[in-house]
Amino acid sequence: VGGLGDVVTSLSRAVQDLNHNVDIILPKYDCLKFSDVKDLGYNRSYHWGGTEIKVWFGKVEGLSVYFLEPQNGFFSKGCVYGCNNDKERFAFFCHAALEFLLQGGFHPDIIHCHDWSSAPVAWLFKDHYVHYGLSKARIVFTIHNLEFGTHHIGKAMTYADKATTVSHTYSKEVAGDPAIAPHLHKFCGILNGIDQDIWDPFNDKFIPVSYTSENLVEGKRAAKEALQQKVGLRKSDLPLVGIITRLTHQKGIHLIKHAIWRTLDRGGQVVLLGSAPDPRIQNDFVNLANELHSSHSDRARLCLTYDEPLSHLIYAGADFILVPSIFEPCGLTQLVAMRYGSIPVVRKTGGLYDTVFDVDHDKERAQGLDLEPNGFSFDGADSAGVDYALNRAISAYYDGREWLNSLCKTVMEQDWSWNRPALDYMELYRAARK
Ligand code: ADP
Repeated sequence: VGGLGDVVTSLSRAVQDLNHNVDIILPKYDCLKFSDVKDLGYNRSYHWGGTEIKVWFGKVEGLSVYFLEPQNGFFSKGCVYGCNNDKERFAFFCHAALEFLLQGGFHPDIIHCHDWSSAPVAWLFKDHYVHYGLSKARIVFTIHNLEFGTHHIGKAMTYADKATTVSHTYSKEVAGDPAIAPHLHKFCGILNGIDQDIWDPFNDKFIPVSYTSENLVEGKRAAKEALQQKVGLRKSDLPLVGIITRLTHQKGIHLIKHAIWRTLDRGGQVVLLGSAPDPRIQNDFVNLANELHSSHSDRARLCLTYDEPLSHLIYAGADFILVPSIFEPCGLTQLVAMRYGSIPVVRKTGGLYDTVFDVDHDKERAQGLDLEPNGFSFDGADSAGVDYALNRAISAYYDGREWLNSLCKTVMEQDWSWNRPALDYMELYRAARK
């Protein structure tokens, strides 16, 4: 789900591209879109935990995926998370996955597990499987978000051979947490990348004109018009701020709302694509949408769903992508934004700090990493902060179009792919095996 799903897919592809074998094991959630799995077929069955487990195999984005379907119905709940027995369901899955590896005669060098839901693999492996046929394996554990399941994460940290999180700054922000602090000797931050084939404005079926940094003005203009048309905004040459996010406390909801009003005050347009797992927040945004759609119907549109095709059109058609997170382990939206030549406007936290360098304040920090500044950022968590970053961005649109276009070109040419981070993971996997 969300960034975790993106990262498991794209990291696996990057490691596979380096000529290593990667298999992914997932529960066979009944709510998966199986039409996106190529050649899905029944693979085998085995018994564990008092039930039969059917194994299905198929290809997702060129990756081998095993889907475990226990006949006790644990993953036929119409959702991924959010059942009252989530802990039991995922502990069961972890145990079943290890049993699958053992009974299937797999001999992995590395078992890489992610976040609280697969954390039990770390201790189940060391307690029950290390002495059997899987003795060669080492456990790497990655924290994508410490906010969920801290107890499980702490326990996995104890048992894992190596542990990572998804940016250097977030690794420092969480270093004092009791779940992490005792394990700093085996813990580090490795930045997430994005998959350049999945996110590619030159080859994207959801946008009207293919573009690279060479014809980005033309490509983005066509995308903006298509976006305005699609969501029903006035077709005009105004600064367009895009927001693509889960609507949760983490993502800075009060700052998002403030930024919408600020953008409208400054004569701009806003498209928000967001879904809220919490029905109260969803309701709140439905009300805001109604208000905005009557007061600013030609300049504001809130799309309160999950819609990947629309997200592509927003990344391409927006001038700015706003990410005002209260905390952000890595953040992918700002990276995708840059790939599409949209300028990130972000709060300085976690991975946002590590990837966005303010045009006015971070020249030296960027230079230290051989980069050019690439966006607008702010400190603090109040409306004055957002205003500071957003006002500069919107003013650049009105008063410095040429400069802004060259900034778009610069960000588009930066490399936020897995090229570098995949090598860091390879090094880590090797270190885990020593
Ligand atoms: P998180 O994992 O905390 O939600 P990330 O920035 O790591 O945040 O990843 C978010 C990913 O999910 C991005 O690829 C983003 O484009 C996508 N996304 C978020 N909300 C939506 C939505 N409502 N519709 C489509 N894609 C979305």
